[in-house]
Amino acid sequence: MASEDDNRFMEYAILLGEKAAALGEVPVGAVVVKDNEIIGEGYNLRETGKNPLTHAEMIAIHYACEKLGGWRLSGCTLYVTLEPCPMCAGAIVNSRIDRVVFGAPDPKAGCCGSVINLFALPFNHRPALSAGVLEEECRVLLQQFFKQLRKKN
Ligand SMILES: [Zn+2]
Repeated sequence: MASEDDNRFMEYAILLGEKAAALGEVPVGAVVVKDNEIIGEGYNLRETGKNPLTHAEMIAIHYACEKLGGWRLSGCTLYVTLEPCPMCAGAIVNSRIDRVVFGAPDPKAGCCGSVINLFALPFNHRPALSAGVLEEECRVLLQQFFKQLRKKN
């Protein structure tokens, strides 16, 4: 179930996704929240950084760990506009994030139920999952980006 807070943090993740779009990046935004406070945020920088590791979630996790001074993000929730890929879902498990909230599903790479649900497998940590929070807004963010891209090409 999505709460008012879930919507609020997802709205902020969408704003971050728009920053990525402005750089010509596929618009994905993510925030890590602890005790109702954003402790890490990021947006996709794969092209800008020329680095496949710089997904929104990886950057948000990086800053959250820096802020907390450790790799363990217990008690944290990660919000992301698009369903996490295998790399990010793995990082979520490894950082012990309690809960993941995503907006739009990713039928091609999603690891929270689309291609596979990594969080349902018997790893040493299984985050709780909420799908489809502001799904329509998150989907439109991506659709608009790809529409613009097609116009350019
Ligand atoms: Zn990813």
